[in-house]
Amino acid sequence: MAAAVPTVSVPLSNSKFFNWIKAALAVFYTKEEIEPVVIDEVKYFQQNCLHTISSSNSLPAGSTCSKCCTENLIVCPTNRICNVNRGKCYYHKNVATQFRPSGCPNKICHNLKSEIEKAHRYHGPSYKNTDATKWCSNAWEIAKCYLPPDGYKDVSNASETNFNGIISVIINHKGFEAKIKDDLSKKNNIFDKGRDVGKTVRHSPNLEVEDTDLTQYFTILNNILTDPGFVAMNKSPNNAIQKLAKLQSDDLIIGKDVVRKVLDDVGKTIQEQIRNEMDVYKQKTEERKLELINSVNLKIKDIEEKGNVSLAKLKSSIDAFETKVTESIQEIDSRTRKGIETIESVTNDGVQNVKEEKENAIKEIQKAAEKCKTIL
Ligand SMILES: [Zn+2]
Ligand SMILES: [Zn+2]
Repeated sequence: MAAAVPTVSVPLSNSKFFNWIKAALAVFYTKEEIEPVVIDEVKYFQQNCLHTISSSNSLPAGSTCSKCCTENLIVCPTNRICNVNRGKCYYHKNVATQFRPSGCPNKICHNLKSEIEKAHRYHGPSYKNTDATKWCSNAWEIAKCYLPPDGYKDVSNASETNFNGIISVIINHKGFEAKIKDDLSKKNNIFDKGRDVGKTVRHSPNLEVEDTDLTQYFTILNNILTDPGFVAMNKSPNNAIQKLAKLQSDDLIIGKDVVRKVLDDVGKTIQEQIRNEMDVYKQKTEERKLELINSVNLKIKDIEEKGNVSLAKLKSSIDAFETKVTESIQEIDSRTRKGIETIESVTNDGVQNVKEEKENAIKEIQKAAEKCKTIL
């Protein structure tokens, strides 16, 4: 017997898979709502810092600098960023990227760096993510100091930043503390919990969510959207609360592009996991998830309504797809069994060669059947 391949249950229990799609959409709408609030706060922080730095250094109003790269501002060595190996640092790698002990020639960037540090709840900005030459021109490069340390280097704006990243800015940047009603200094605050929902949905091992978990996810995301402090900061509400309520009761009409975007987004995470996963069986499981997502994506394209799709239609489309998959798998199973029976009916006549060939043929059939199942 070949080692058992842990499988994503294909066909998936449709209600749990549908729950997962609803959870992923709920995270999407929550992100859409909090993103502009985070952008506003970070822009305010950037402008406020630049203003303070200019006045305390007697610089003309509106002074900026784009000459200092992040490496110039970080002393060598700095824990978790660079270390010197045999006298050579691969971070401060050449003359242009050396640390500047005298600071920014325009008196801005090193001051900005210390403001960024002061505003970081854990005093550990993610300098690996950010490009300091853009701190004065793109506030999101400052926001990136408050993201998790890895994986955001190539992101240049909020919309390219995932839910986990956006929420991390709220949790790590102290500017939100005085404004959000919930206590952000405490572990398990509503944003912490929201971040966990996002992670759980994104890394769901089999793209399924139980009913009780789904209800809890909706409650947590609602707590974020209805926090009085957040509501006060939210200058242009986008009806996420109503969208979540309709999503929960299956009444929402969704843009097809939104469903596709949500699926593609998770698909990208899965692709990354496939690339980084060393364990071949886990890799196979991720591949199956990706195939499922791609199939649903194709299915959505087939739904003829223009632009929008109702949740009910989406559900029935997924159901139909699943029925087809089940039927195909049953057919493969029965054909495989018949093939094996036929081969086994061939007499051995005690010849070792024939026996081996028989066994090999059976193995080949089983392999082919497994492959077909994963392709479906
Ligand atoms: Zn260094
Ligand atoms: Zn500078």
